[in-house]
Amino acid sequence: MKEKNTIINTQQIYNQSTLQFQFIIRVVGTLVGLLLINISSYHNNMTMVYGVAILFLTISILVRFTNIKENIRIQKINLYMDVLVISVLIIFRGGLRSDFFLGYYIILGYVLLLRDAKLLLRISIWIIILFSLVSIVFTPEAQFSFGRLLIRETLLMGTVYCLFNYSRMLNKEMSLRIQATDLALRDNLTKTYNRNILMNVDEMLLKESTNVFIVLLDIDKFKMINDTFGHIYGDQVLVSLGSLLNQTIPTEDVVIRYGGEEFLILLQDMTEKQVFHMIESIKIKFNQMTYDWYNLETDLAFSAGIIKKKDSESFSSGIDRADKKLYQAKSEGRNKVIM
Ligand code: GH3
Ligand code: MG
Ligand code: MG
Repeated sequence: MKEKNTIINTQQIYNQSTLQFQFIIRVVGTLVGLLLINISSYHNNMTMVYGVAILFLTISILVRFTNIKENIRIQKINLYMDVLVISVLIIFRGGLRSDFFLGYYIILGYVLLLRDAKLLLRISIWIIILFSLVSIVFTPEAQFSFGRLLIRETLLMGTVYCLFNYSRMLNKEMSLRIQATDLALRDNLTKTYNRNILMNVDEMLLKESTNVFIVLLDIDKFKMINDTFGHIYGDQVLVSLGSLLNQTIPTEDVVIRYGGEEFLILLQDMTEKQVFHMIESIKIKFNQMTYDWYNLETDLAFSAGIIKKKDSESFSSGIDRADKKLYQAKSEGRNKVIM
């Protein structure tokens, strides 16, 4: 069975608004950094600082204006660049004496928010390497103090250790929460969503106001299957239909067990024709399902009503209209899809 949408997605952290926020922070941060170096008495080679700043801003712009799905890796590279830029600022503010090294903590804190333990560990190692290098190589002889370096490295590593453990804890909590949400939103028998998902339905359907189709589907003469063979066998039919729907309906769309033997399907980004054919083909597959215990004259069947949701219309009024179509399909003899 295909894995259906999960409501909470850790990749949400890397969304467009975070990207915008990062971009502004990077531009403003770089400008403030350059300004501070300019007014400080330590600088001697500004061409290198400007070179790094321009390279950094170019990468930031690149990340900001490329497609979010493709640039998660570049975004991570950007974080390594942040560390590099801070290290350059430290060099030009007098090495070990500089207060710019506090910038490392800001980056560590930010990476923690991304809840990516591996990235946190790698960035930390990168920070420690660069900071040691900056301190040992670029600190003027007179100011270099091994004791001071040791204290700062210990503080850095202590922070990294704490953040790393905290990040692991958050990760665990997050996956537990995803599991719990999934349990609360899924129907145990058919593995489709249950009605609770309707509260989150606006988030599930990403492009809210565009093409949304509402399908209401009800198994025909299901009571007869229960009465003839028993509830356990009826359940088998429900499980099969649930799994057929989960397999056929695209991952971005939503299948809900709306009532006992009634399913609600929300489809988006499809034409009327495609929707109709998809439901028809599911119906034909359902008609062809066989069990060794099933010996009724008629095939398994369902009826379905489909409507296209109007932009201004609420979901409940859309579902209402789909229900009327379903009723029409039932009264016109069942085993029928009406749009
Ligand atoms: P129609 O073609 O008009 O839809 O007829 P129907 O028999 O399918 O409709 P009706 O609403 O009369 O019957 C639905 C039946 O679905 C009644 C109920 O016992 C059964 N049902 C509801 N939930 C479950 C379930 O979880 N398992 C089983 N086995 N049966 C269920
Ligand atoms: Mg019914
Ligand atoms: Mg029915």
